[in-house]
Amino acid sequence: MTDGTDLDELLIAHAAGHLTEAVALVVASHLCLCRESRRRYRIYEILGGLLLEELPPEELAPERRARVMAALGEDPPTAGGTGIRRCENPLPAPLAPYLPASLSAAEWRRSGPLAELPLSFARSRRGRLCLLRLDPGATVPPHSHVGIELTLVLEGRLRDGDRVLEAGDLAIADPAIEHAPRAGEPQGCLCLLFAQEG
Ligand code: ZN
Repeated sequence: MTDGTDLDELLIAHAAGHLTEAVALVVASHLCLCRESRRRYRIYEILGGLLLEELPPEELAPERRARVMAALGEDPPTAGGTGIRRCENPLPAPLAPYLPASLSAAEWRRSGPLAELPLSFARSRRGRLCLLRLDPGATVPPHSHVGIELTLVLEGRLRDGDRVLEAGDLAIADPAIEHAPRAGEPQGCLCLLFAQEG
């Protein structure tokens, strides 16, 4: 949890369809891997439905919704593929459309013990979406953030401050956070990372 955005805020926004493509992808991937978040997400979906039922019909007019979304500066809700799903494969199913045919044959950008594979998405808002592989014990250089940064551990372990993240865990950092996450040993880790930029 951070001062700015916490996991419940993201789950509520996802249930309401208010997240941008890249953030929705990270949250949907997290939901695939985390039973507790799936449970909370279902509650938020139900609560959201009940609240909508309480509103008079005119409140739900598409034009009004579009104006609110525009005022928030948000992209339209993402299309299918990012909803709640239980995933048994090594990488969450929502990621599939974003991945190359072969991860091992893809062009990873290596920098010492870190390797990054950029993933493309609709860049209506600036940001960096990538898979990040850290060798065992590798440390991400200390850094702060200009916006929100989401790090979802897909394989292995990652130490972020006092917290040890395992597969399925999501770290949320914002401009108030300065950190230098470190991969566990002996496995290292593979993460899905989204960072807002300028
Ligand atoms: Zn960071």
